[in-house]
Amino acid sequence: MKRETFRKSLGVRHVACGSCNGCEHEMNALSNAFYDITQDGYDIVASPRHADIVTVTGPMTPAMRAAARETLDAVPRPRIVVAIGDCAAGEGPWSGAPSAGPGAGIELQATITVRGCPPTPEEIRAALKSLPLSS
Ligand code: SF4
Repeated sequence: MKRETFRKSLGVRHVACGSCNGCEHEMNALSNAFYDITQDGYDIVASPRHADIVTVTGPMTPAMRAAARETLDAVPRPRIVVAIGDCAAGEGPWSGAPSAGPGAGIELQATITVRGCPPTPEEIRAALKSLPLSS
């Protein structure tokens, strides 16, 4: 998949799938003046229909399963799923809890996973920039 496929910038839609919001806190920093991920060609978008990338966090709780799937289905193809945090990888602090699923990234078949509890903004940004958009 080439970056040209996605034209000049990439829209990022985020879905919290039962996270503690720690990962969201770090992701939100990508929009501040210090990290300013728009300089790298990424826009945080409000609608999945404007997105190219879906970032997901959390263990995938039952309450979020249908909403996460609906959001993903609304994203035009080609699309990329990026899992953020250990919970999304299925190994967070709630792994094995009754309400915890397999991990949002596992369930939604993420292309890449950014590990950490939570990962830092630098790590998230580096992961986004490392996406396999050319081959
Ligand atoms: S990985 Fe850590 S910070 Fe992120 S949602 Fe799970 S518990 Fe919270």
